[in-house]
Amino acid sequence: MDYQSTRGKVGGIPFSKAVLMGLADDGGLLLPAEIPRLTPGDIDALGKLDYRELAFQIISLYATDIPAADLRELVDRSYAAFTHPDITPVVHKDGVFILELFHGPTLAFKDVALQFLGNLFEYLLAADNARMNILGATSGDTGSAAIYGVRGKKNINIFILHPHGRVSPIQKLQMTTVTDDNVFNLAIRGTFDDGQAIVKEIFGDVDFKQRYSLGAINSINWARVLAQIVYYFHAWNRVREQTGCNSIDFAVPTGNFGDIFAGYVAKRMGLPVGKLLLATNENNILTRFINEGDYSVGEVRPTLSPSMDIQKASNFERYLYYLLDGDSAKLAAWMQTFNETGRLPRDEALAEKVRRDFASASIGNDRTLETIRDFHAGTGYILDPHTATGVATARVLAEGSRPVVCLATAHPAKFGDAVQQAIGQLPPMPQSLAGIEERESRCKIVDADTQKIRAFIEAHAL
Ligand SMILES: *Cc1c(COP(=O)(O)O)cnc(C)c1O
Repeated sequence: MDYQSTRGKVGGIPFSKAVLMGLADDGGLLLPAEIPRLTPGDIDALGKLDYRELAFQIISLYATDIPAADLRELVDRSYAAFTHPDITPVVHKDGVFILELFHGPTLAFKDVALQFLGNLFEYLLAADNARMNILGATSGDTGSAAIYGVRGKKNINIFILHPHGRVSPIQKLQMTTVTDDNVFNLAIRGTFDDGQAIVKEIFGDVDFKQRYSLGAINSINWARVLAQIVYYFHAWNRVREQTGCNSIDFAVPTGNFGDIFAGYVAKRMGLPVGKLLLATNENNILTRFINEGDYSVGEVRPTLSPSMDIQKASNFERYLYYLLDGDSAKLAAWMQTFNETGRLPRDEALAEKVRRDFASASIGNDRTLETIRDFHAGTGYILDPHTATGVATARVLAEGSRPVVCLATAHPAKFGDAVQQAIGQLPPMPQSLAGIEERESRCKIVDADTQKIRAFIEAHAL
């Protein structure tokens, strides 16, 4: 399987190279040259597999330049780090199915992809006798999942910037208590946007990027999307077993459009998905796009679901590519318009096409708290605030004719304050967080200054 850029100037590259490239060199995002189409018989057969075998089979379709035995070993090792035997179990509560994606080491769905990506990077680097210095900025969840994905790995150092004093205490500790020699936490005196801007500036210096073999772990990496396709198949099968229904909706709390894009790919592969129900918080650019055809950037507002406080969804370009039937020239023009004006052109014919696959709702803080409260009162189950936006969206939009799977993107203990606000008690602490305050930690506080960060990387890079 070859990969090509959404913007049409990069093509014919194998999976392993696409993974190491991250962002395509023409500024676009990499996609497989075609999406394999499965028959209902293929899908039934996949449904009988356990998670690891299913992951191996689906990833094999796209990672065709990795020998099967090696890929199987990478997949097995990645999911051995999960604490639930079903990896991403589905539980049935109050008429909705909850797909629990938080049984990995950092208790958020990003572990599903980043455990795999960390192992994959190590494997690809060893094959080339190469090294990589990963640089990223986080508002909380990506940083810890990426750190756990590569801690202790050979030929990889990781530098993660987080905004000092602006991530939750648990999120901070999940990053800073990883004291492996290859992990560098930098708390910057500034915001997440400052961190993101610094990272962008450093990546923009091509000389520096090449000299230090900088690598990216954000969700524009195709391998992250790929690993997430798996659990749509897994959940679809679990729900069909329980309900006998063939067509199923998925409600997905969304920020960068990565997770829900994986669901869209699953649908294009032939999985019988009815609608993808896209949940946003007050940062609702994607909801406006789906419901009104308006994709225009606003100010980022902080909410109770901080991992969705995003205005420019970095994976959205991948979907636009399919929406425009693979017309790279038109897509490149649209992205240029967007970068210049902060909005995409409106197109009524396309809006209708979008609504065949997606429906969307924007859920404010009050509704989020109310949903956590109601759901807990009715079922005893505690939703995290991100998952609550998905459950609320499912309640508003589900058509009733199909079962709905709500993706639970984080364990509630990661967002204890919001849960306490909603139900007056903290969620139980999972085993992996026990005693985390007492563990040794390491973190350097630095100014939000590109030169200083660059100097730190020079001093500590591989
Ligand atoms: C990252 C994240 C999201 C958003 O996922 P995207 O792939 O960016 O759409 C939702 N919930 C939680 C808990 C997250 O960490």
